[in-house]
Amino acid sequence: MTTKRSTVQYDLLVRDAALPDGRTGIDIAVSGGKIAAVAPHAELASIGGAAEVDAAGQLVTPPFVDAHFHMDSTLSYGLPRVNASGTLLEGIALWGELKPTLTTDAIVERALQYCDWAVGKGLLAIRSHVDVCDPRLMAVDALLDVRKRVAPYLDLQLVAFPQDGVLRSEGAQTNLERALDKGVDVVGGIPHFERTMAEGAASVRILCAIAAARGLRVDMHCDETDDPMSRHIESLARETLRHGLGGRVTGSHLTSMHSMDNYYVSKLIPLIAEAGVAAVANPLINITIQGRHDTYPKRRGMTRVPELMAAGIDVALGHDCVLDPWYPLGAADMLEVAHMGIHVAQMTGRQAMRACFDAVTTVPARILGLEGYGLQPGCNADFVLLEARDPVEAIRLKATRLAVVRRGRIIATTPSATTALELAGRPAATRYRIG
Ligand SMILES: [Zn+2]
Repeated sequence: MTTKRSTVQYDLLVRDAALPDGRTGIDIAVSGGKIAAVAPHAELASIGGAAEVDAAGQLVTPPFVDAHFHMDSTLSYGLPRVNASGTLLEGIALWGELKPTLTTDAIVERALQYCDWAVGKGLLAIRSHVDVCDPRLMAVDALLDVRKRVAPYLDLQLVAFPQDGVLRSEGAQTNLERALDKGVDVVGGIPHFERTMAEGAASVRILCAIAAARGLRVDMHCDETDDPMSRHIESLARETLRHGLGGRVTGSHLTSMHSMDNYYVSKLIPLIAEAGVAAVANPLINITIQGRHDTYPKRRGMTRVPELMAAGIDVALGHDCVLDPWYPLGAADMLEVAHMGIHVAQMTGRQAMRACFDAVTTVPARILGLEGYGLQPGCNADFVLLEARDPVEAIRLKATRLAVVRRGRIIATTPSATTALELAGRPAATRYRIG
């Protein structure tokens, strides 16, 4: 019997990459938009014919993923005015002022611009909430259009978000279900914004039942407040268990946990773990918006990230807002998000910093349920070449995205940040190796 040796024609070969798991000197071969092989340099060295990228020992990571964003309000900063108090509640009021003046074209244009920024930063999957408390569902239609238009280069997942409360805002439940009928992917909620704690809990029951009946995922804005008695995450975990939705439900923000009684939290975290509910903290926004009613000392207001992680709960770090009624800064840079997360949660240990890199890559990919994500053979050939040697250095430098690859095609490049230093005869002066 003779075996015919197949000659695999690779489309792209990335040479000499470092991987997030610590491996170095790795080649990545791409064929037909998928990762065909990941192997030490010598093993793939003899196969030619493909376009080649020399990673020169730099880090190749799966793309950044943002598990929490608001694409219907992004890039609207200053319209119709800026948020003077800096609070969540003024931001919601401001968004209410802006809503009647929105047009589909304006939402689409701003969203597409943001997606361009995202691609340049290697951010290739975003879960965006979309406000469904407008009977016209203008933002829903706009973002469904954007989802289709960006699909070749970015995965956009949409959450039906009743910003003004599914019970508090008249017709919101009907509008939410209409949005889901139109193809919005995930059921959202905002229990702490309902009129009472009891109605907040009722909203969680209603929304989880809708998700279970439709076979959808859930992601609620939950307990985004400094009030330690805001305990809707408890109801969310209970309803997740009741409907068998484990692994498909996310509690976003959970900032009240920062201020909760420690004894209560010692019971709550195991419940969240038992239910298989994931958490998303949004460090840039939480540190900015929470604690605004405090004098001194001022609370940080971010949820208990290291403690949730230690309990085995999936915790992602999200961007939440960029240039909108709630936040005046931002640049679609998930390394900036991870950087702030490390500071706010005081996660400065090596493993803790490393976990914050996962919290903007692999963990949110799992929360979104992305298929074919990763650097194993068979995965989609989506990855980012960073000008850094490892994940911690990437966070420290907010490293340049030298190349962004989607389905095996280079879709964005950025010039090296150290070129100027090299010209001055001081290559990589920002580099530092421990030990
Ligand atoms: Zn949000």
